[in-house]
Amino acid sequence: MTPLPPGSTIGIVGGGQLGRMLAMAAAQLGYRCHIYAPDQAPPAAEVAAAFTRGAWDDGDALAAFGRAVDVATYEFENIAAAPLEALAREAPLFPPAKALATAQDRLEEKSFVERLGGRPTSFRAVDERAGLDAALAEIGCPAILKTRRFGYDGKGQARLASPRDAEDAWEAVSGQPSVLEAFVPFDAEFSILLCRARDGMVRVWDAPQNVHGDGILRRSTIPCDAGLAAQVREAEALTRRIADALDYVGVLAAEYFATPDGPLFNEFAPRVHNSGHWTIEGAVTSQFENHVRAVCGLPLGATARTAPRVEMDNLIGDEADRWPAILADPRAHLHLYGKGEARPGRKMGHVTRVGDWGLGTRDWEGG
Ligand code: AMP
Repeated sequence: MTPLPPGSTIGIVGGGQLGRMLAMAAAQLGYRCHIYAPDQAPPAAEVAAAFTRGAWDDGDALAAFGRAVDVATYEFENIAAAPLEALAREAPLFPPAKALATAQDRLEEKSFVERLGGRPTSFRAVDERAGLDAALAEIGCPAILKTRRFGYDGKGQARLASPRDAEDAWEAVSGQPSVLEAFVPFDAEFSILLCRARDGMVRVWDAPQNVHGDGILRRSTIPCDAGLAAQVREAEALTRRIADALDYVGVLAAEYFATPDGPLFNEFAPRVHNSGHWTIEGAVTSQFENHVRAVCGLPLGATARTAPRVEMDNLIGDEADRWPAILADPRAHLHLYGKGEARPGRKMGHVTRVGDWGLGTRDWEGG
């Protein structure tokens, strides 16, 4: 396979912070990026060579976009199959459309992972209101109802403490086809991040241990607690099987719950992932650079950690206003995404600290 030469154009569907950081990594390798998104001024377009404003479901616009680029990738998951196929007919698309189609549907995703020998949380498909009662009778409470499609960052989800919450939960998911999952009293959460090259070579980063709040990632700490090592190895092996089965190209992120019975698969994202932002400063090659290398057919860079300990905190909503205080810590790498309005729950930036000292320690002096 011939690598795409520097100076070529990478099309990125999606204009958020993931596209922005991909475009910055691509520029370093001498590529141009062309962003496709429906917004007027998306964060990624600010740092890219070209921008097309278009709707997610506009197959004609996506086909034209495909003709304008040398290779295409995506950083946004909620694109329907047909318009994405229109793009894939015009330009090589990585990761493959099948990876997106599988990850887009929680039922399909869990069944796929089960077929590969993985263990998702206990779940039942729920297609109508009566089905929710039947599923609750089998799964029990507490439980979480999640829409099969188009959910992210805790959206399209409702928690049920008792069967009496069924009516509210069904309303919360707007009566859409959903899955009911048993609530897992997990010991910890972690994710596996790997990158698969066009020739099938796979490199994996150290697994981050993740803490969520209100369904949104708050903090990733690398490495995971030593006690999770066996679970991480098992999850790495499963994630690799997922990548191989999809003939995957690019960065793949899979989230797991650590439990006394071993790792339970939660979900995978066919793209660069928030829990991999630490790799920009904390690994020899970042997830963004390796994704670009993979889609362009270049050899992958090393994924080794560059420090004994790395921590990444998301800046959500008005937390980004704390930027002067964050920068007062000379160890802090501040990333702001250039989003105008700091709405509650909106990811505005992140901060990474690389070292083997604790977060929040302010008395460190050189050395
Ligand atoms: P998701 O969008 O499915 O990744 O959910 C976001 C976060 O909600 C997860 O990372 C967990 O912290 C929590 N969560 C989701 N599903 C479950 C579950 N079945 N049991 C316990 N916590 C969950």
